[in-house]
Amino acid sequence: MKIKAIVNQDVCIGCGMCIEMCPEVFKYNEDDKSEVVGEINTDDLKDKALDAQEVCPVDAIEVYE
Ligand code: SF4
Repeated sequence: MKIKAIVNQDVCIGCGMCIEMCPEVFKYNEDDKSEVVGEINTDDLKDKALDAQEVCPVDAIEVYE
C-alpha cells in the first residue's frame, strides 16, 4: 500500500482535529501546525487519514496514492 498524506503548512490553522482523529499519522510540529509523521500502511490508517482529510475545516490535508 502506497498511500501518502501531506499537510499544507500555509493553510493549516492548527485546530488539532486531524491529530485527535489520527495521531498515528498527524502530529503537531514546532509551529503548532499539523504535519505528517507516520506511515499510512494499513487500511485502517488509510480510512482514518481520509476521515481527517474530510473534517479538516480549511482543506489543508491531501491524501493520495
Ligand atoms: S484538521 Fe486541518 S487545520 Fe486542523 S490541524 Fe489538521 S491540517 Fe491543520
